[in-house]
Amino acid sequence: MLIRLFTFLCLAVLPFPVGCSDTTTEDAASTTDEDTTTTTEEDGSITTTTTASDGTTTATTTMPDGTKVTRRKKPDGTTTTTTVKTDGTTVTTEDDTTTTTNTDGSTSTSCALTANTTAASTANSYGCSVLTRDTSSCQASRTAQGLSGYWLKFSCRVTLTKSGTNVQISTDSRPDTKSQYYATTDACYEAFSATGRKTNPSKISAQTLLVTVPMTGAKAASTTTVSGATIGVAVSGVSIFGNFAAPGDDIYDEAATFDKCEGHPQGTGNYHFHSEPTAITQADSAFVGVMRDGLPIYGRLDTDGTTPTLDAAGGHTGVTVDSPSTAVYHYHVNLQTNGTDSAYFISKGSYAGTVGTCTGCN
Ligand SMILES: [Zn+2]
Ligand SMILES: [Zn+2]
Repeated sequence: MLIRLFTFLCLAVLPFPVGCSDTTTEDAASTTDEDTTTTTEEDGSITTTTTASDGTTTATTTMPDGTKVTRRKKPDGTTTTTTVKTDGTTVTTEDDTTTTTNTDGSTSTSCALTANTTAASTANSYGCSVLTRDTSSCQASRTAQGLSGYWLKFSCRVTLTKSGTNVQISTDSRPDTKSQYYATTDACYEAFSATGRKTNPSKISAQTLLVTVPMTGAKAASTTTVSGATIGVAVSGVSIFGNFAAPGDDIYDEAATFDKCEGHPQGTGNYHFHSEPTAITQADSAFVGVMRDGLPIYGRLDTDGTTPTLDAAGGHTGVTVDSPSTAVYHYHVNLQTNGTDSAYFISKGSYAGTVGTCTGCN
């Protein structure tokens, strides 16, 4: 019935049958394609993966309950995921927009980046809530690799790959919160204006960051001054930048362009935090992320509620929420001032450990 209706629409409604010819071309490509593999998982789901001649890969998984999930990845990196549920509802996620098509034909869109997050009661004055991140869908693959502790807290949007004693963090640096730094047509756009705040002309765009750090960072004999752009990765996958602005700019002036969750994009769209990321921590002892030396960062406070005394790199040795009985070296979000202005920055400007490699950090 649905197929007959679709055919009718193609022939009778469209003056130029774009949809129909697209379908025909794709069918032809897949039937002549030689690179098709079919795998059956332990849970009974069956996945068929094909790679078309233009490099587009399409993986279709049929779940035991009849739900069909199709993931298509084009050579330019754009991905589309379509889920057809047994009740006839279709959910399509393309880039950062999720479109739900109900059985009555009505549609609704939502921001895909905020999926698997829940707002806690703590919110800043701009309405940015600390988020709880549900990482259950990626926990098994992480523990199977030998990852534990705070590594299991990273958003499932972040891909973690253990390699020897290192962990490679693959992230697009986009936040799991809405922002005014998207096009107004984007499902993740949210207007924001507040006294003392302004919006810079940049827009958030997906980055390709590959950050390799020791799985267990350690304090080195001497510190290293941070340089470049991305100096760490937050638990949400967002880049952490230093306690300074681009040459010629003042970081305290630049802070006026932060969005409600205290992040903003630079010229090439790399969204980042310089200061306390309020969707992650607000004056607490929560895990914030890791610096590029693999050492963890926590909120302003220690687990006993006190403000720690920090060394020149912004860290100290003590217990954390992730290491409650063994003292480990870690950083804290900390208050800094230039004499006139002050802010809770993430970095004090140097690494205490040995810096790993990165592609895309600049
Ligand atoms: Zn910045
Ligand atoms: Zn501490």
